[in-house]
Order: sequence, then C-alpha cells, then structure tokens
Amino acid sequence: MPCMLLNPHIKYKPYTPLKLENRAWPTKTFTKAPIWLSTDLRDGNQALANPMTVEQKNIFYDTLVKCGFKEIEVAYPAASDTDFSFVRGLVEGGKVPDDVWIQVLTPAREDLIRRTFEAIAGFKHVIIHMYNATSPTFRNVVFHNTKEQTIDLAVKHTKIIRQLSNEYAAKYGTRFKYEYSPETFSQTEVEFSVEICNAVKATWGKAGTGDERIIFNLPATVEVGPPNHYADQIEYFCSHITEREKVVVSLHPHNDRGKSFALDPYSLLIHVHSSGTGIAATELAFLGGADRVEGCLFGNGERTGNVDIVNLALNLYTQGIPPNLDFSDLQSIIDIVTSCNDLPVHPRHPYAGELVFTAFSGSHQDAIKKGFEAQSVRHAQAAAKGEPLMWDVPYMPIDPADLGCSYEAVIRVNSQSGKGGIAYIVKQHLQLDMPRKMQISFYQIIQGISDREAREVTVEDITTAFRTKYYLGGPKYEGRLVLKSFRITTEPSPDPISQTNDDEDAPDERRRFDGTISVDGVLRVIRGDGNGPLSALLDALRTYLEIDLTLREYSEHTIGEGQNAKAASYIELVASGPDVKETRKATQSWWGVGIDSDIAGSGLRAILSAANSAIGDRPLPELKLDVGFNVASGQADVADAIVNSLNLQLPRRFQASFFEVVQRATANSGGKILFEDLTALFQTTYGYEIADEWHFALRSFKLEPIGDGSHRLFSGELAVDGQVQSVSGEGNGPLSSALAALHTLITGTLSIREYAEHSVGEGTEVKAVSFVELLYEKEGQKQKEAAWGVGSDTNITTSGLKAVLRAANRLSVVGK
Ligand SMILES: [Zn+2]
Repeated sequence: MPCMLLNPHIKYKPYTPLKLENRAWPTKTFTKAPIWLSTDLRDGNQALANPMTVEQKNIFYDTLVKCGFKEIEVAYPAASDTDFSFVRGLVEGGKVPDDVWIQVLTPAREDLIRRTFEAIAGFKHVIIHMYNATSPTFRNVVFHNTKEQTIDLAVKHTKIIRQLSNEYAAKYGTRFKYEYSPETFSQTEVEFSVEICNAVKATWGKAGTGDERIIFNLPATVEVGPPNHYADQIEYFCSHITEREKVVVSLHPHNDRGKSFALDPYSLLIHVHSSGTGIAATELAFLGGADRVEGCLFGNGERTGNVDIVNLALNLYTQGIPPNLDFSDLQSIIDIVTSCNDLPVHPRHPYAGELVFTAFSGSHQDAIKKGFEAQSVRHAQAAAKGEPLMWDVPYMPIDPADLGCSYEAVIRVNSQSGKGGIAYIVKQHLQLDMPRKMQISFYQIIQGISDREAREVTVEDITTAFRTKYYLGGPKYEGRLVLKSFRITTEPSPDPISQTNDDEDAPDERRRFDGTISVDGVLRVIRGDGNGPLSALLDALRTYLEIDLTLREYSEHTIGEGQNAKAASYIELVASGPDVKETRKATQSWWGVGIDSDIAGSGLRAILSAANSAIGDRPLPELKLDVGFNVASGQADVADAIVNSLNLQLPRRFQASFFEVVQRATANSGGKILFEDLTALFQTTYGYEIADEWHFALRSFKLEPIGDGSHRLFSGELAVDGQVQSVSGEGNGPLSSALAALHTLITGTLSIREYAEHSVGEGTEVKAVSFVELLYEKEGQKQKEAAWGVGSDTNITTSGLKAVLRAANRLSVVGK
C-alpha cells in the first residue's frame, strides 16, 4: 500500500519565494497593537460542524463587545436566514454600541450584495466586505477567467457597492467602510494583487485618511509558505499599493502549516509550545507593514483555524504593549466560546489552556517558587521607591492574576514533581515554611501517595497528608500524645520532699516542664528538667513514658503579624543512643511541627508531633495505680489519678503534699491502693465535694468595697462546730478579708502561701476549683503549720473562700 513518497518533490512543488530587495520587517519590533477584527461569528461560525444558533451568536457577540472589539464581522447575511435575522436582530435590538463597526461579508454577486445591504439597513457603522478569488488556480480552473476578467469582476461589483452605500447613507445615515479581499492572496502573484486592489480603490473613489481608508484584506486563505514568505508578500504589497495613507492593510491568516496540537483535551502527550504558524505569520506580516488583523478567539476557523486573537493580543501584552482588548476574566470567555463553538480549548493552549499556569516538574516548580519569593522582595523594594512592580518569574511570561487566574493552580504535583513545589503549596496553604531537610522528608510521603494512587496529587491531598503526618490541625488530626496544659519554670520551686538535694542544685538556670498531656486518651501529669523547655519535655517523656528521644534540629518562624501572630516550630528528633555522636548521626529521624501563640508552646507541640511519629503504635507504660515510694514517679502517678478521676490539676507542691498523705495511708499495704480508694482519700482529706460538716463552714457572705474601693469588707456567717457566728473583716481582696474575719475567732495568724484555680466542665456545667495552701503561725511557736484545701463552686470567689476554710479545718487552729 503506497503512502508517503520517498521523493515527495515529484508530487509537491515548493512555494516561489519573493525577490524582495532590502526587506525591512526582520529588524522591526512591535510598538502598538493592530486594529482587531473578530470573525468568530462569520469565518469561525462557517467552520463549525453545528453552526451557532441566533441565541448563541448573541451571547458570543456580547462577549466580543465586552472584550473591547471595535470591528466585528457578524455574518454572511446572504448565505442563510439565520445569519440574516441575526444581523437584523442586532440593529433592531439596539445591540451595537456607537463605537463598534459591524462587518458583513458578501461575494461579488449583485443579488447577494443587495441582500447584504437589506440586512444592514438602519445600522450606524458598517463595513461591507466583498471578496473574489484571485489566484491562478481559481482564475484558470474554477472560473476560467483571465486576469482582466478577474479585475473586471471586482470593479463591477465595487461599483454596485459604491452605489448602494450612497443610497443607504442617504436613507439611514449609515457610515460605510469598504473592505475588499483578493481571496487566496497568498497564492496570488503579489504584483497582480496590487494591480487589482489599485483598480478597486480607484473605482471606490471615496478612500480618504483615518476612518475613510479603504481596507484591503490579504488572506492567507490557505497557508502555502513559511511565515517569512507571507511577511515578504505583505511588505511588498504595502510598498507598492498607491496612496498607502488611504489604505488599511489587513491580515487574515489561517493555520494550515502549523496548528500545533490536536484538539483533544485528554491527550496530554503533545508537547508543542506554540499555537501555529498563523501567529508567526501574523506577527511577521504585521512587522511587514500591516495595520489590521482578522482572526478568532482561541483560533477557531476553517480546517486548522484562523489566527488566534487572544494569543496575539497577550503576546503584545507581555511585551508591555496595550493590546486594547480585555481578557481579565479569561475563564469566563473560554466558557462562552467553548459552549458556543462546542470545541474545547486545548489544555496546553497558550495563555488559555488549563495546564498553562501549571508546573509539574520539580525543577520548574523550584524555579517558580524561588522566582515568586525573589519577586516579592523586589516588589517591596520597588513599592517603597514608588517604582513599577515589574513581573519576572521563571517559566511564567505572564502573571496569571492578570487573566483572572489564581496562583493556586500554578504548581501541581505528580510523580515528576519535586520537594520545592510541595513546599510551596504547604507555604501557600498552611503558611508553614518547612526547613530544607524536612521538605525532603515530607516529599517522600507525597511521592508515596503519588506512586500509590498513580494520579496527580491535589492541593488537598498535600495539606491533608501534612496534617495527618504531623498531627496538626485540631482534634481530627491528634496523635496519641496531646499537650493539654503546661508550665515552664526557670527555678524549680522548693520541693519539700527533695530538699535534701538542695545543695547539689546547679547554679546555672535550668528549666522545668510541668504539664498535663493526654496519652491514648488518659490524662497524665508529667514533668522533667532540662537546659530549656524542649529538653525538659524530652526528659519528662523519658521519665514517665519511656519515650527516649534526642533533639537534632530546631527552627521556628512567625506566622501573621501583630496581635494574631503565631509561632511555628519545626523539630527533628532521633532515638537516643548511648553515644551522643552516634545519636546525632542516626539515619532514622522524625519531624514534628507545632503552632502556638506562645513560642515555647509551639516548640513543645512540635516535640509531641515528632514523638507521635516516633512511637507509632508501640505500647506505652500505663498509668500505675500501685503507688510506689519513688518520689518522682509516685507524685506524678497520684496526680495522674486525680486528673483522671476528678479532673483536678493539682499544683506541683500540692502533688508533693498529697503524695505524703497517700504514703502514710498506704504504709501498711506496701504502697498499693485502689484507684477508687485514692480518689476517696483525696476527697475526705481536702473536703472536696463531700458533705459540709466541718469545724469551719461557710453559710453565707457578702463582700463590699470600702474606702477608695481598693479594699474589701467581708461580712458573713460561719458555722463553727455547728454554731453559727457572724464575723467581718477587711482586706485587699476576698480571701484576705475572709481571713481577717476568721482571725476574730482564733488566736495565731493564718496566711495564704499559694493559691491556684482552674475551671472544670464545660458550658452550663462549668465550675471553678480553687486550691489554697494556708500557713498557721501559733502564738509562741516558731514552726509554722501548712495545709492544703480545695473548694469548688460555680462562683469563683465562693470556691476560693471554701478552699480557705477547708485548709483551715486541717490545721490545729486554736479558738479564742
Ligand atoms: Zn478565512
């Protein structure tokens, strides 16, 4: 089966180059936009398998007007009733703005010309466009006309148009322009094209300057040579036509030699970065001296399409030249054009394709990310100096925002993408700027998803993977370890039980972490010491949960500004080993991220984020209810039990104090105590939420400001061993004035050593819990007595007062 020839020259002849001396176009540059004519509704429409309905033409027409076209070829009115009635509808509907010229096409036939004029009756501004084919093939084969007969045909019908335009101008006040196309110009001897156009111009006889110019439209009806050949033809025509100043030279290129891609939206295998020779031919021919371009949006048209005006206009725009067309909302234009034409815009169509502002390749993404970062710095500097903010981003000739596209789509991820692009997406969407090593680590996770799913990874995939991997973003993403509350102290408060170690305390400042974390849903109170908050938490994890990790890398940055600013911390942890050097060189590591309004908090959260990865689903030591006699773990176990049974977070020194109580209570059972018994022991010892039959009990009280308002007068009724007594006292606040009142009943002095409070429960169930440690100094005794009390109430003041009295109950207070 013979197909392609080995020697195609025996079948196809090359174009004949023009002998143009000193051609000028190759050294010219663009300085302004051409006059644009959209022929979407005529040439474009003729090329559609299903030509547009009148309704679709109207929608399309409105879009063209909105884009800013001032010359629109709306129809071939003599060809069909649809076209004729569409044109009538434009004038009857008053749809033509005063500055828009409506163009209609007619062949050189008198009946069709008359019908065309009937269609435009009543318009203000009309371009009558007449054509006849001039190339040798058409003259000799189609029409059997000589050159002279071909000229006669054009001249004869130009006369008819001249006469009719005079009549319609008189009757309707219409202003006319005349456009003549030597159809098949690119295949016609250029000398003959000039000859026939000069004859038409002479016949028209009305060509002047400005809006009076005659339009000679020079179609590359079929592209037969490379773009430079068309440019040569145009430059020849421009320099040989007479009265050049009275002529608009118009280009009408098609794309026969270079439509670059199939219109198949699902084939992503085509990698050509141009939309065809129509663009090149137009640009070169425009440099050759043309004034005007006829084309279609996105290059629709016969065979391989007309030249793409969007592409041409945006090429000028990216050269800093105003195109005089507005494609600010390109997507809605695409939507209208594709629905009217029923043809898709290729995903890689210049400027308009959905993949055009998208980078999949890692090196491209990296360059774009760096480009954006450098540009924002450059723009800030330029803005400060009042200079223009010039666009310069690698791989991006235009700012997508100018076309109404968001940056979101700029970087997309598939198996070809790199860490830079993923880091960029995390930064754009989560405001997190990962350190470089962490980018590599997270990249592997995304690669895994991409390989597993064998598809493009979406922005949502990436942000979800990030949150899941680093346990970030609320309860949904929480890991096994969750920070509930914490306190960092610079100098650990004196601990009555470890006072023997006082002398060994290092003089340099150390940090202590005291906190409550949820471990597999159970609240645990842990603490640890270190050079800083992070090492103190790591110490606590090691001591209480057997999670032995070492910090290898730490960095942080702020997110946002001013009052809403937050800190983001990034932590890399490795498993602790016996040798410090070996530990730091470990190949396995875990990254964590933490965000908090407090910088220490963000670091601590980052530690737990990384620790959550490190522990996987390995079992952790459970909360021990067998209270041993190890001071450090024993106190924490007791505190854990109370947190879990009563939701109370005991102050550190209270933990130590209660631990002593527990130790005494369990002395005979070898330190073992049941969970329920421990809770009961706490409640009976401190009077927490049990019946109120105590030595001192609060029956009622009121507090009033006195003096300048800085003092309080407490007056109330206290039951002392069941006997109600009225008391009053003054103090700085509720608690001190209550103590003053109490002093009217007792000898010696009570003072508050420590006070803490927190809320328990939620919503309407919420109540305040107060912890008070009272000191009692008996008359004539040097040694002070101390006791803790716990109070709770919906009113925070009442809760504090109850705690004071509960503590007083536990002291051997002597009455008066
Ligand atoms: Zn055409």
